[in-house]
Amino acid sequence: MEVTRRKLLQGMGFLAGAIVLRNLAGPEQALAAVEDFPGYPERFGMLTDTTMCVGCRWCEVACAQANSMPPPAALSDKSVFNKMRRPSAEALTVVNRYTDPADTKRTVFRKMQCMHCNEPACVLQRARLRLCLPGGCAGED
Ligand code: SF4
Repeated sequence: MEVTRRKLLQGMGFLAGAIVLRNLAGPEQALAAVEDFPGYPERFGMLTDTTMCVGCRWCEVACAQANSMPPPAALSDKSVFNKMRRPSAEALTVVNRYTDPADTKRTVFRKMQCMHCNEPACVLQRARLRLCLPGGCAGED
């Protein structure tokens, strides 16, 4: 079969059109996938008014006990507020203290915790890292 310039351009035009059509149709497919997604009907959500936090850190204690983790620093130890903490493999719940920028005499506490994701990227990422770099993941237990 002789390939002429005209046939080549026609072919490329057809190919380009097919790609555009597929991308145009993509969102519907994505929507169909979402509509088919069963979600997690057995899971519960929890709504917490964090503006009411008084920084008692009992949630840190309860979280450590519930997850059989080492207890956090003593509740009387206010030095934990000297540096900003983030949830980690050692502490899934942490409370930080901030000064209200609008009123520097006012202290604000903010609880940060594991969000109990349905598909936790951190665990998936760790598993993937474990596969790739045995024992290489920073902060692994
Ligand atoms: S969120 Fe934690 S630190 Fe804040 S009030 Fe509740 S238990 Fe205390």
